[in-house]
Amino acid sequence: MNILTGELFLHHDFLRLTREHPIEIGNRCSKRYNNFVITLIDTGILLIEPESAGSIDIVISSGVHGNETAPIEICNLLVKEILDGKLQVNNRILFIIGNPPAMNSGERFEEENLNRLFCGKHIGKSHREAKRAALLEKAVTDFFDSRHDSLERCHFDLHTAIRASKYEKFAIYPYQDGRALKNKYLNFFKDSDINTILLAHQPADTFSYFSSHQFKANAFTVELGKVRPFGENDMPSFAGILTSLRLLIKDEIDFDDSVNNDDFNLFQVVDEVIRYSENNFSLNIDVKQANFSTFPVAFQLTTDDDKGYQMKSDSDAIVFPNAKVPVGHRVALIVSKTSI
Ligand SMILES: [Zn+2]
Repeated sequence: MNILTGELFLHHDFLRLTREHPIEIGNRCSKRYNNFVITLIDTGILLIEPESAGSIDIVISSGVHGNETAPIEICNLLVKEILDGKLQVNNRILFIIGNPPAMNSGERFEEENLNRLFCGKHIGKSHREAKRAALLEKAVTDFFDSRHDSLERCHFDLHTAIRASKYEKFAIYPYQDGRALKNKYLNFFKDSDINTILLAHQPADTFSYFSSHQFKANAFTVELGKVRPFGENDMPSFAGILTSLRLLIKDEIDFDDSVNNDDFNLFQVVDEVIRYSENNFSLNIDVKQANFSTFPVAFQLTTDDDKGYQMKSDSDAIVFPNAKVPVGHRVALIVSKTSI
């Protein structure tokens, strides 16, 4: 047994192992355990394969932004429950802690936002996060490609947000490249106490869009609340998503296909605010302004070289406002209510 799988089996602690070995180790190591094989593919990338794989192949990723600790603790808890024998594994699962060095330093990222480096955006870049994006793409590709008879592919990329949100938990449904939305996943989120869904309007460089676009996976970016340090997360508030993920892992999920719009806050992205200048730019809202806040028509959201962005409707809301982005990058999304 490799020393790393040895440590994992000694402590049943994926987070501790990743924290102590944050840099890529480059060699995979496997161990048979009860009714599954566990493989540490590289640091922060853990594959669990039951003897007979069920109907759904599942990727659960966390820590793509290093300081978003709650999703990492959720992954760690699920791995621990599996290794402790408390959670029966009947589907193949790939658990990921996305950016271990940034996690160790409590930073969102070191050189570049990892969640803007997928779908090949890492190509031609040599910094550590670009290499990590390539490695994560390969791990997900190998995972989905190694089995062609799976009925369903899922990827839940778990995050917490920099700022407060009018709707604390929400999921982003990536642009579907023309495919229809799947109602049953909207119900999956409703059953997970996440009834706010944001429908993306175009391709993105995110981890969830990568899995959706490349593998037609049912992939989502899931925002679970506000960023907090390790140990300060309100774990009971994640009971809903934990219950749903456990049911998926056990292959016992009972998907309901009919959707009632009244059960959801559905939003569609209608605009993107881009930063155009280094020195003439400002984002004219309070740093504490919550996601999904609305503003009066003509409110000057940003000042910038292109005259900035004025709100076009008093029902439009802003999501992910972030002034600390490089020129050419997104400052905020503008969303409006929709239905399906
Ligand atoms: Zn994030």
